[in-house]
Amino acid sequence: MNIIFLGAPGAGKGTQARKLVADFGLVQLSTGDMLRESQSSNTEIGKKVASIMNPGELVSDDIVISLIKERLSNTHATGFIFDGFPRTIGQAGALDTLLDVHDTSITAVIEMKVDNEALVDRITGRYTCAECGEVYHESSRPLLPTSVCIKCGSVKLKKRIDDNEESLRTRLDEYNNKTAPLIEYYLNKGILYSVDGLEEIEVINSAINKILLK
Ligand code: ADP
Ligand code: ZN
Repeated sequence: MNIIFLGAPGAGKGTQARKLVADFGLVQLSTGDMLRESQSSNTEIGKKVASIMNPGELVSDDIVISLIKERLSNTHATGFIFDGFPRTIGQAGALDTLLDVHDTSITAVIEMKVDNEALVDRITGRYTCAECGEVYHESSRPLLPTSVCIKCGSVKLKKRIDDNEESLRTRLDEYNNKTAPLIEYYLNKGILYSVDGLEEIEVINSAINKILLK
């Protein structure tokens, strides 16, 4: 089973992907996480990636496709969850080809629908545990700066550099211009399913489970 999560920044792709990993034993492939990892190494490529990601633009297809290609070749799994990939029609075509080589294909594409108003609040108030990635929010799920992560006990919390209003505006434009066309691309293949991303996390999770188990 291979699943794609499609949705604007802050729609909740990562949160739901992590739940499916636990429930179905799939491997989560997040190009955003991979790109942030490449930045922490302080190399030339890391610096270049940071200069594109921080203001909220999309990294080139070549870079993200090669990251995914390498992971697909080196990971043994019963299936993958693609979180934040593909983000362009070019990436979608490349993924079809790569999966074909591995004798597999996309089972379902889950589109998470949210309105822009909710996204601004979700993104600008968001912070995560630096150790385990658990997501918190200044108003809807607060932890005092001195308190510890409820999941792993770490006291290291962090905020993403691109989680500010200006970068978010660019990220939303990029989504609308380059990623939203994928909705039709997968609709035409007959594998697109939509869920309401404004519901509670658990409600969305059961809606997704229902789609995958049918
Ligand atoms: P979000 O969905 O909240 O924006 P991600 O972690 O998925 O968070 O992505 C963060 C940034 O990483 C994007 O704004 C973009 O710069 C870069 N990125 C991630 N995935 C891709 C991709 N598939 N193609 C191009 N750029 C990507
Ligand atoms: Zn933690």
